[in-house]
Amino acid sequence: MQYDLEDLRALLRRDPEPVVFFYGGEPLLNPAYIMKVMDSVKAKRFGIQTNGLLAKRLPPEYWRRFDVVLLSIDGVEEVTDRYRGRGVYRAVLRTLRWLKEEVGCRCEVVARMAVGRASDIYRDVSHLLSLGFDKVHWQLNAVWTDEWDPREFLEWGRSRYLPGIARLRDWFLAEAARGRLLGIVPFLGIYRAMLLRPYDWIPCGAGRRAFAVNTDGRILACPIAVSERWATVGDVKRGVVKADFKLDDRCSRCEYRHICGGRCLYTHYEKYWGEEGFDAVCEITKATIRILEEGKGVLEDLLARGVVRQEDLDYEPILDSTEVIP
Ligand code: SF4
Repeated sequence: MQYDLEDLRALLRRDPEPVVFFYGGEPLLNPAYIMKVMDSVKAKRFGIQTNGLLAKRLPPEYWRRFDVVLLSIDGVEEVTDRYRGRGVYRAVLRTLRWLKEEVGCRCEVVARMAVGRASDIYRDVSHLLSLGFDKVHWQLNAVWTDEWDPREFLEWGRSRYLPGIARLRDWFLAEAARGRLLGIVPFLGIYRAMLLRPYDWIPCGAGRRAFAVNTDGRILACPIAVSERWATVGDVKRGVVKADFKLDDRCSRCEYRHICGGRCLYTHYEKYWGEEGFDAVCEITKATIRILEEGKGVLEDLLARGVVRQEDLDYEPILDSTEVIP
C-alpha cells in the first residue's frame, strides 16, 4: 500500500458506521494487509470479495470476523470452469465448506456470478443455492466483454435469460408463500425498492454512499474505475472532496428509476458498448423489473398477512457490496 494506515483510520473515524470491504483484483494476494486493517480499524461490518482460491492464506480467526464473504462462482461446474479455468468450481466449493464447517465462519456467504452465453440463470442460481450459499448475486457479462456484441447479447437475453428469470420468480414466490425468502439478491433488491424503500441513486451507492480506497491512496467513486479521471473524488488524507455525479438523461426520466437507480455509474461515464449497448442492457433491465412486477401483488399480500416479514425483504445492498441490478 502506498498510503499510511493511520490516514485510513482517521478517514473511517469520520463515518459513524463504516462498512469495510476488501477487494481487488484479488485481495487475498495480500493477507498481511487485510489483517493489519482489521486489527486497527473499527467497522460496523467487514466483508470481502474473493475468488476463493487463496482462502487459507488468511487465518480462521480473521475469517470469523467477517459478516459477509462474496465468492466468485458462475453456476454449475461446466459453466464456472469454462469462464474461470479448470478446477475452479471445486476449489471454490472446498472454500465454502472450509468456511462453514471447519472455520465456523458465521458470515453470510454470497455466490457472486458473472452470467454469459453459457449460463442458464434458473439452473445456475438454483444450483448455487442448493450447495449452501446463503445468497446468490449476479452481473451480466455485458459492456466489458468480447463474448458478444449488443445485438447478440439482446437476442440471448430475450430468448434464454428472461424466460429463466420468470421461472426463478415463480420459484421465489412459491417459497415466499411458505414463509421462506430465497437469497436471490437481484430479486430481494428489486422487490425492496418496489414495495418498501425505492432507490434514490445507483443501488451499490457508487459515488455517494460507497467509495473505494485505491492502493495509491486515491478515493474512487467506483472500484473498477482505477484509471478514469472522473472517478477520483479525493484521497485518503483529505477524504472525499468532490463527488457531483449525475445520471444519464434517460435514467433521470425513466419510469423505473426508483427501482433500477440508474444501474451502474461507470456505464454512465464510459460507454464501451455505445448507445446501442446501453439500450440493450437497459431493455433487459426493464424487462426483468416487469417480470418481477407481475409477482408484486402476491408478495404484497404475503407481507400484509405476515407470512413474509418486512425486515427480511428490506435488503440493503451497501451492507453486502452488491449492485442489485444485474
Ligand atoms: S432502466 Fe435503463 S433508463 Fe431506466 S434507470 Fe435503469 S438504466 Fe436508466
